[in-house]
Amino acid sequence: MEGNMVDNSSAVSGGEEQQNQEQRRLRRPFFRGPRRPKQCIFCVDSSKVIDRDPLKLRRFVSDRNRMLSRRITGLCTQHQKKVSKTIKLCRNLALMR
Ligand SMILES: [Zn+2]
Repeated sequence: MEGNMVDNSSAVSGGEEQQNQEQRRLRRPFFRGPRRPKQCIFCVDSSKVIDRDPLKLRRFVSDRNRMLSRRITGLCTQHQKKVSKTIKLCRNLALMR
């Protein structure tokens, strides 16, 4: 008997926890795991250089060849400026659209 009661209480508490989790999930529908700090790839690896290579610059450009914002690229201010300047230069040189 006692064992059964203990089992029931634990089951109830588990259910509450699940409900809480459900509520949390519903409140933030686009929550995908813990936030991880953004790091500028050029600051982390100093050997990387921003050069006029359309293939390398592709990751900073959307599929419709529009520049991506810093929020998406995760670059720091200085490097984002450099990248945007390089992309504009490449457009002028007809290396990329
Ligand atoms: Zn940087």
